[in-house]
Amino acid sequence: MKKLALHWQIMIGMVLGILFGFAMGFWGSGKQFVLDWIAPFGAIFIKLLKLIAIPLILASLIKGISDLQDISKFKNIGIRTIGIYMMTTVIAIVIGLIIVNVIGPGRGVEQSTIDQLTATYASQESVTGKLDTALVQQETPPLEFLVDMVPDNAIGAMSDNSLMLQVIFFSIFLGISMLLIKPEQAKPLKNFFDSLNEVILKMVDLIMLTAPFAVFALLAQVVVSAESPEILQKLLIYGGTVLLGLLIMISVYMILLWVFAKKNPAWFLKGIAPAQLLAFSTSSSAATLPVTMERVNEHLGVDEEVSSFVLPVGATINMDGTSLYQAVAAVFIAQALHFPLDLQDQLTIVLTALLASIGSAAVPGAGMVMLVIVLESIGLPADKLAIGLALIFAIDRPLDMCRTVVNVTGDATVSVLVAKSVGKLGMPRVKNWDDHYAPKTEV
Ligand code: ASP
Repeated sequence: MKKLALHWQIMIGMVLGILFGFAMGFWGSGKQFVLDWIAPFGAIFIKLLKLIAIPLILASLIKGISDLQDISKFKNIGIRTIGIYMMTTVIAIVIGLIIVNVIGPGRGVEQSTIDQLTATYASQESVTGKLDTALVQQETPPLEFLVDMVPDNAIGAMSDNSLMLQVIFFSIFLGISMLLIKPEQAKPLKNFFDSLNEVILKMVDLIMLTAPFAVFALLAQVVVSAESPEILQKLLIYGGTVLLGLLIMISVYMILLWVFAKKNPAWFLKGIAPAQLLAFSTSSSAATLPVTMERVNEHLGVDEEVSSFVLPVGATINMDGTSLYQAVAAVFIAQALHFPLDLQDQLTIVLTALLASIGSAAVPGAGMVMLVIVLESIGLPADKLAIGLALIFAIDRPLDMCRTVVNVTGDATVSVLVAKSVGKLGMPRVKNWDDHYAPKTEV
């Protein structure tokens, strides 16, 4: 019997998880049961993915660069990548601004709703904590991000998942240096990283065997922890505006793929679907990264020389879904709190949302922290910041899940575009997701 494709297995796990979560809602101790006995399996899955993220970046980036044979090729890939990332992010923000201004989800929000949400969330630790984190981020000097990118201890950088850019820096530095010595001298190290890379891709496959069960646990947990339906209902138009923007952004990717890479959107979506579903279930593009890398590489045919650089960099700096959400959320809050915005304010949002999405960590809820910086840039008074966050907090998790899908889809799209432009887009290498699981001879 033909095995069900991985994305269908994951989707079934998700649907069952949601249904199970709802069913548990009818039982008094259901929520606690899910948190105690189901949620830990989701947590283990996310930990496993995070566990292999740093070794995978290290091995695949060093392999990718040392395969290049010529540094000028790397420069070419680097410039295109950063350029296209900036471009897609600006497109995302502009889409967000246009639809939020046209739909105006904040205009009809009643004062009683604002009061109710403020009373519920404004002083909650989850909201005030975000404000504090944002203030710390804001106080850092302008070029600090460049300084932060350079590690002073390679091992130290590898021991902290939030220092991904430092690991990328070290890997590129090492890979380039390997190109500059005699090939026979670089060979042993190259063989080592090539082999490490293969082994880690195998680990991704093994972890993915458990994905359908893990997403069951993750979604059951999301459902039992969700806010009450009445509160969510009040934010429906705002949520719908963000979702509409995200859908338009996905269409933009499809058009870009069609026009510039001559690729069929259905082919692309089928190849990348498991990564999108995991992005949705985990709300973290960093945790999804190993799967994104495997899918783009093996199922979309992007050469590792490109994907090993474009994807980890994208996971950290390219967040189109997050920037679109920040634009919509900032204007929504301003509308609801009757804080007028002129054209200059809207342009300020473009710039700060671009920077804020670059600075957002690829973890759940990070986009909301950086939203504070966008809100401050348009002059929202400090006392209104907590109210602003309280307004959108209840619905943030589901929106986070959706914007993370767009973040991951954007990275995958750009890697195909860059690969195409430098002649590194080949045929997908495998048909079956668990190619590394099958004996080599069958591949
Ligand atoms: N959760 C998002 C990500 O990991 C970031 C955010 O928008 O909060 O891509």
